[in-house]
Amino acid sequence: MVLSCQNVRKVFGDHVVLDDLTLDVAEHEVVALIGASGSGKSTLLRCVNLLAEIDDGTIHLDGEEITDPRADPDLVRQKIGLVFQSYNLFPHMTVLDNITLAPVRVHKRPAAEARDQAVQWLERVGLAGKADAYPDRLSGGQQQRVAIVRALVNSPRLLLLDEVTSALDPELVGEVLTMIRDLKGEGMTMVLATHEMGFAKQVADRVAFLEAGRVLEQGPPSQVLGDPVEARTRQFLSRII
Ligand code: ADP
Ligand code: MG
Repeated sequence: MVLSCQNVRKVFGDHVVLDDLTLDVAEHEVVALIGASGSGKSTLLRCVNLLAEIDDGTIHLDGEEITDPRADPDLVRQKIGLVFQSYNLFPHMTVLDNITLAPVRVHKRPAAEARDQAVQWLERVGLAGKADAYPDRLSGGQQQRVAIVRALVNSPRLLLLDEVTSALDPELVGEVLTMIRDLKGEGMTMVLATHEMGFAKQVADRVAFLEAGRVLEQGPPSQVLGDPVEARTRQFLSRII
């Protein structure tokens, strides 16, 4: 397993946000997290990236426990890319500098190597001409693709995508979804929280429905989205489609 979350519990005050949550993700697998707002999708992704500390359970990456207090969060984040809903590029930095900042400053990678890799990625996603542009000269879709490239320059083992299209104008969603589909084609292991059920159906190998911090139901998209077992899943889907 690339990712293994075992009996993960996360509380904020007296609010249990992740409740005995167990989820495995195999190499090259794409898992879509669906569920109502507040069901714990973002919190789970943040815990996996060690941006939030879990209160119980374990999380393993490639068999190593990353929730062990001795694990180095910087090293873990080098292996796990996370992209948020809003692209969060630094406005005062060029596209290239946005992408290479963390690898060079945090992960101490040689600057030339990081730049080469960034340029290669920008070429692959059709943004080669934007390397020296500032974010405000890019469309929202282009900015989000840059944010994904920024998560890819460390060649992560796992890419976490949190509602990466929900802040975009509808006409810009497609280019980001295409990029994610291409990454799947290249074998990238991904966990994505999404409201785009059509996309989840196309790109995910497995859909996991979260409710109140638990995986209530999971399986192939055709089953979970088309013929869910649980009444709560059915109810959720009928409300959003
Ligand atoms: P989702 O991404 O599925 O909408 P979240 O993981 O964002 O769900 O939120 C799950 C629950 O945790 C919500 O009730 C939210 O209010 C709560 N929550 C998230 N982050 C915090 C925080 N930093 N402090 C307190 N409560 C939080
Ligand atoms: Mg969320």
